[in-house]
Parts: sequence; C-alpha cells; structure tokens
Amino acid sequence: MDYKKELAAYFKENCLFDEPMSRHTTYRTGGPAQVYVYPASSEDWSFVLKLARTENIPLHIIGFGSNILVGGKGIGGIVCSTKHMNQTAVKGNRITAQAGAALDKVCEISVEAGLAGMEKLSGIPGSVGGAVYMNAGAFGQETFDCLEYVEVIDFEGKPAMLLKKDLPHSYRHVEGIEDYIVLSAGFMLESKDFASLTETRNSILHKRIEKQPLDFPSAGSVFKRPVGDYASRLIDEAGLRGLSIGGAKVSEKHAGFIINFNHATPEDIKDLMAEVRRQVKEKSGIELELEQILWGDFAR
Ligand SMILES: Cc1cc2nc3c(=O)[nH]c(=O)nc-3n(C[C@H](O)[C@H](O)[C@H](O)COP(=O)(O)OP(=O)(O)OC[C@H]3O[C@@H](n4cnc5c(N)ncnc54)[C@H](O)[C@@H]3O)c2cc1C
Repeated sequence: MDYKKELAAYFKENCLFDEPMSRHTTYRTGGPAQVYVYPASSEDWSFVLKLARTENIPLHIIGFGSNILVGGKGIGGIVCSTKHMNQTAVKGNRITAQAGAALDKVCEISVEAGLAGMEKLSGIPGSVGGAVYMNAGAFGQETFDCLEYVEVIDFEGKPAMLLKKDLPHSYRHVEGIEDYIVLSAGFMLESKDFASLTETRNSILHKRIEKQPLDFPSAGSVFKRPVGDYASRLIDEAGLRGLSIGGAKVSEKHAGFIINFNHATPEDIKDLMAEVRRQVKEKSGIELELEQILWGDFAR
C-alpha cells in the first residue's frame, strides 16, 4: 500500500491531502501541505513516525501556525498538527499541558489558580508546543522562566523526559529542540494573589489590542529584537511603516509586524521581509534576524 493510503486508512477523517496551509497559519496564506494529519496519542505518533522513517518522507510539526510562513508552492511530506492534544491539569503549584493546548488558555488557568509566572505571556496566540520550541515571551517573561520539564519523542520514536537544564535556551532560541516533538510541558509556578494576577493579565491583553494590528492576519513580530534595540524602532526610523508589496504591508500600527491586508501571497510577505531587512541595514547598519519561520517552496 502506498504511504498516503496507509495514512488515510489509519487516521481516517484526521488525514487531509493537499490541504491549504492558509487554513492553518495566522498569516492566512500559504500553499498546500501534501498530507496533513492530527496525531492525538503516542500510538498515533509511533505510527506516523515509523511510516515517515521507512518511506523517507519529511515530517513537519505545527502548533497554531502563528510563527510560520508557508510558501505558495506548498510543502511536501507530512505536516502533523498537535491541535488534538490539548489537555491541561493543575496540581498544587504545577500546571501540565499537552503541546496543542493554547498557551493563552494555560495563562488564564494559571491566573485563575492564583499562580504566578505565566501571566505576562497572556495573549500570545500560539500552542504550548510552539511556545516551548520558540521560548516565546513578552513583557520580560519567557516560557522557559517557569518551565520544569518537557515530555518529548524524537524522530526515531523514542520518548524522553527533558528537564529545563537539558535544554539550553536564550531569547527566542532553544538549543537542540528541533530534534524532538514536544508532547507536553510541565510548569512550576509561585502562589500569588488572584486579584493582582488578573490585573496584570487584563492590562497585558489590553496593551496587545491597543498596540498590535490584531484586525489583520499576521504572525506577530517578524524580526528578533537586536541587542539593545527594537526591530520596530529601526523599521520605523528607516521610514518603512506602511511600506507594501502586493497584499503585504508593514503595519502602520506596529512597525515590527507585517500584515496580510489584502490577499497577500506568501511571496509578497517574503519579499517585504527582505526589503525591510535591506533598507534597515542600509540606513542603520543593523542586520535584522528573522524570528518567523519559512516553510516549503516559494514561487520566487
Ligand atoms: C498577533 C501575534 C502576536 C504575537 N505575539 C508574540 C509575543 O508576544 N511573543 C512571542 O514570543 N511570540 C509572539 N507571537 C508569535 C507566536 O505566537 C509564537 O512564536 C508562538 O510560540 C508560536 O506557537 P505556535 O503553536 O503557533 O507555533 P507554530 O507557528 O505552529 O510553529 C513554530 C515552530 O515551532 C515548532 N513546533 C510547534 N509545535 C511543536 C511541537 N509540539 N513540537 C516540536 N516543535 C513544535 C514548529 O515546527 C515550528 O518550527 C505572536 C504572533 C501573533 C500572530
């Protein structure tokens, strides 16, 4: 049996072919994934990993697609979504969450339980797995601050429990994480009063609405923060606010974001990223580093 038939027979309605990635990324653009599946159990992961290995098919993991731009020509191989793994639990000062749980939901749960350490991550629209992979952070707080361990499986199908110390990390970077699939994460938090945590969460959610172009599809900040500066400040200073290519535009509200304001192709967005980098380098001498991840094949 060919591998597509095997996947279809195993995953049934949880296996899609030629699935437009515009449906699965917050940029709302992107070509098709050859195969798109929703593994939910360790058996499902074992099955898909073994098949990918024996048939030599590339495997990609997606959380909520809020930091990925997929090329217009699509992506080959199998894309595995963690969306069907979304359980969370609170026990004392610990929260455990499966990779496909919404990070913001976990923040909400932590605040409601009177637990401090994740409240400033409120409103980040990714999954727990994506947050661990990126060491997502905001307002001086990072995912790894209160991370205790992650349960992973490697691409050979071998499970492991990694402690925070096993994963050297820095700003938006976790060394070696690309060798694993994150299945769940455990967070250790500190007790704090519910009222002040709620106030912090609400004020952060409010700031996001006030400062970010949330009415348009985007994938958040395009570039990493250069040491001692802000990408948005450099982009602004270079006079690039509002610069557009096709349907993609540097947000007028927050120059660090590129928005899909009018049916942008992935290539419009990619070209605009390159143009912003070029002009910032020319005007300030600083080379911006991409925070967002490019997947698949681009038409140009
Ligand atoms: C409006 C907006 C605001 C944002 N604000 C912030 C912010 O304040 N701070 C911030 O850090 N980010 C921010 N982001 C970016 C994004 O939400 C984060 O980077 C988030 O952590 C990505 O999670 P995800 O589930 O969407 O990951 P995806 O985009 O699906 O994937 C990102 C990477 O993680 C990998 N990955 C995902 N899940 C797993 C898993 N289970 N196992 C192994 N690898 C995995 C993928 O393969 C990919 O390489 C923002 C985005 C938007 C759209």
